[in-house]
Amino acid sequence: MVAARVPLIAGNWKMNLDHLQAIAFVQKLAWTLDEAKHDTAASEVAVFPPFTDLRSVQTLVEAEKFSIAYGAQDVSTHESGAFTGEISGSFLASLACSYVLVGHSERRQFHGETNDVVGAKVRAALSFGLVPILCVGETADDLEEFGASAVPVAQVKASLAGISADAEVVIAYEPVWAIGSGKAATEEQAELVCGALRETLRENFGSEFADRTRILYGGSVKASNIAAFMRQSNIDGALVGGASLDVAEFASIVRFYKHVI
Ligand code: PEP
Repeated sequence: MVAARVPLIAGNWKMNLDHLQAIAFVQKLAWTLDEAKHDTAASEVAVFPPFTDLRSVQTLVEAEKFSIAYGAQDVSTHESGAFTGEISGSFLASLACSYVLVGHSERRQFHGETNDVVGAKVRAALSFGLVPILCVGETADDLEEFGASAVPVAQVKASLAGISADAEVVIAYEPVWAIGSGKAATEEQAELVCGALRETLRENFGSEFADRTRILYGGSVKASNIAAFMRQSNIDGALVGGASLDVAEFASIVRFYKHVI
């Protein structure tokens, strides 16, 4: 029997909130979810603060036993050595990070990350026991030239090449034109691409891998549109940018199951 995929709502803070603001935010998020009687079996919540916040978030989450996972926004392809400014997956593992974002479009766009680099980051994350959240998605030009699925499918194939079929990864389908634009994909469009990505996983890693791997949608997700995405059979959660910086809005997205009919 295929195990049900627990939806994941992941908040990418980008370069926002310092460590003191992170502590206040995570505390307030935990209280808000607790007060609303959030069902932790119905959706998993994870936050992705800047590197400098991670130790503070770890200390708080462990001390208060909050059911909030956390991870980093990037990881080095290297384990250690002369790589100024980079952060090893071993450091993230020692801060008890569960996840790490890999290949976010802002890393691809502003830091020149290619599919090869992103693939090396996926493998680095896995080697330290971190679950990589592999971000893929087409630009507006790609959409016009190749349609919606071709680029994200190619990115998944290239970046997961060589990993074990036993590995745990999460895929985040984020059309680049939908990120931060306020213009989300339609749920039909997102489902079409997420379905194509699941078939790609099936062809390359088998049905067990495809059926248990969570595929998220990201791009202008809000409390008012999350329900439509979560009704789709191939969408297992969301990667949320802007709306993850507002506690009430993010908590409402986490509790999407209260507004999915
Ligand atoms: C993101 O940066 O991954 C993202 C989806 O941003 P936003 O929700 O603001 O579109």
